[in-house]
Amino acid sequence: MIRGGAWLIEHSDPSTVMTPEHLSDEHRLIGQTAAEFIDNEVLPAVERLEQKDWALNRELVAKCGALGLLGTNVPEEYGGVDLDKIATLVVSEQLSRYSSFGATFGAQANLTILPIYMFGTDDQKKRYLPGLVSGQQVGAYCLSESGSGSDSLSAKTKAMRQEDGSFVLSGEKMWITNGGFADIYVVFAKVDGEQFTAFIVERAWPGVSSGKEEHKMGLHGSSTTPVILQDVTVPAANVLGDVGKGHKVAFNVLNFGRFKLGAMCSGGSRAAIGEATKYAATRKQFGVAIATFGAIKHKIGEMTSRQYALESMMYRTAGLIDARVVASGEGHGAQPMLQALEEFAIEASIAKVLGSEVIDYILDENVQIHGGNGYVRDYPAEGHYRDARVNRIFEGTNEINRLLIPGMLMKRALKGELALIPAAMKLQDEIMSPAMSLPEDDGAALAEESRAVSAFKKVVLMLAGTAMQGYGEKLQDEQEVLSYLADILIDTYASESALLRAQRAILDSHATSDLQSDAARVYIDEAAGRIEIAARHCLAAMAEGDVLRTQLAALRRLLKVTPANTVVMRRRLADATVRKGAYLFY
Ligand SMILES: Cc1cc2nc3c(=O)[nH]c(=O)nc-3n(C[C@H](O)[C@H](O)[C@H](O)COP(=O)(O)OP(=O)(O)OC[C@H]3O[C@@H](n4cnc5c(N)ncnc54)[C@H](O)[C@@H]3O)c2cc1C
Repeated sequence: MIRGGAWLIEHSDPSTVMTPEHLSDEHRLIGQTAAEFIDNEVLPAVERLEQKDWALNRELVAKCGALGLLGTNVPEEYGGVDLDKIATLVVSEQLSRYSSFGATFGAQANLTILPIYMFGTDDQKKRYLPGLVSGQQVGAYCLSESGSGSDSLSAKTKAMRQEDGSFVLSGEKMWITNGGFADIYVVFAKVDGEQFTAFIVERAWPGVSSGKEEHKMGLHGSSTTPVILQDVTVPAANVLGDVGKGHKVAFNVLNFGRFKLGAMCSGGSRAAIGEATKYAATRKQFGVAIATFGAIKHKIGEMTSRQYALESMMYRTAGLIDARVVASGEGHGAQPMLQALEEFAIEASIAKVLGSEVIDYILDENVQIHGGNGYVRDYPAEGHYRDARVNRIFEGTNEINRLLIPGMLMKRALKGELALIPAAMKLQDEIMSPAMSLPEDDGAALAEESRAVSAFKKVVLMLAGTAMQGYGEKLQDEQEVLSYLADILIDTYASESALLRAQRAILDSHATSDLQSDAARVYIDEAAGRIEIAARHCLAAMAEGDVLRTQLAALRRLLKVTPANTVVMRRRLADATVRKGAYLFY
């Protein structure tokens, strides 16, 4: 059985890991369709979209639907094209090259179509999916309220049950993407003020309206409004899922939304590296292109390495989700998809946090490489920078996701679904012994990095074991410890994903295998430093005296990684990127 989180305690074989180099012809074709749609239809329309031309936005949604891009995971009987998660990832990466359209698309495909497909009755699917999947109708997802964002289950919107079985909804939702022009809303409300429940609501129904557009920092080409429900009668047939089970709809949608947000960030980052590189190759100072300066090469090399790790992690995870769906033996139906997304909820949160932070890093450096031109509207760099900031806020803030990552892992360990506790206990005994064994060379390529990644995993086990022993159930109140643990888990999963992809490139004798090794080595070398600092802070918060000293000594031994010459590696990555004029590995 392919399990989420198992990578932490099990060996992963590089020859089986999914990478962008192993996309099928079908994946490449749908990726090309999405790329051409963005290049030919969306990018030329940016100025009008930024002026909030919603009629044009609707036309684009319809064109996107006609190309099959809104229904990659929906069966043909409802108008979809029924592809796998890798296809969804490829499409999301392309459509996010204009973030505002990425948001419109995300609200439609991930937040409206998906919950109706996964939780809808047959009748609901037949009534709503064809219109939404074809893009003839636009969808929006109404969970947040002014008083309940992160704490979404404390929503105040009410659904009063009527004698005939229908419900009357009243309340106000906030910050709703596509709010200004959607036809179909997935709305969360509490039945009789108590049972949190999802409903499908049509804009045409009396009492439904949207408020004024929010004045946002970015995403000006995406509609964000309040959605107001004034005594809206909703038939019983429009309850989505079960009464009182709205949290199941909300949380599962978020699992998928977070994974796809990671994909969108990856697509945006990749494009920004190309933008930064082209500018650096043409902008001259002191008589030469700024791309020839070591300080700029450092930036381009570091941007490439972080993007490489993010992208490797996204494809690896999509491959795992698809393998889990296939292993279920039940085809691509709603149920196996739901189970697979739940299984990989930890990895989805990791994708969301790493994706949104990698893109912010890359877009910040893109502005810096553009100098003064990066700060003015004549160049796209400043717009990308503003647009991306929200990624750390929606789909669960990064703080909430950081709490969820170790939280979900520990829950699985306590339920015995993941053999984390025996592994952590064994390590605790080893740590107390001066003869603690260090991870061994497993004979694979990139031996030093492979050993480092094994050591990162041991650090996670050491900290998780200490935290569980020290705090027990009270660990959930120790947010700083959980956040440090999340940082280490994120760097560990990303490092291993980069390593496995680079090892697979060597096995395949891929033309870029040397550069892929550079990208993976730079990421792992940097991660080792970050992990050591986070682990020291975390241990100091949990232990003191001799116990702390022993643990710190064990940490030092574990992370005794010989530093690589990352300066020369970043230079090689930067020079090759400038020669290509685009991100290297796609
Ligand atoms: C452009 C845009 C589009 C959006 N689109 C949609 C949409 O389509 N549908 C929808 O339903 N919503 C949407 N949202 C809302 C978004 O999901 C919320 O803004 C988000 O969930 C955060 O909620 P909040 O704004 O109430 O912040 P709060 O929950 O008030 O959080 C404020 C700060 O406190 C932190 N915090 C909160 N709780 C905790 C805790 N327990 N522990 C530690 N830290 C905590 C947060 O991490 C954050 O840093 C959108 C928002 C924006 C800006």
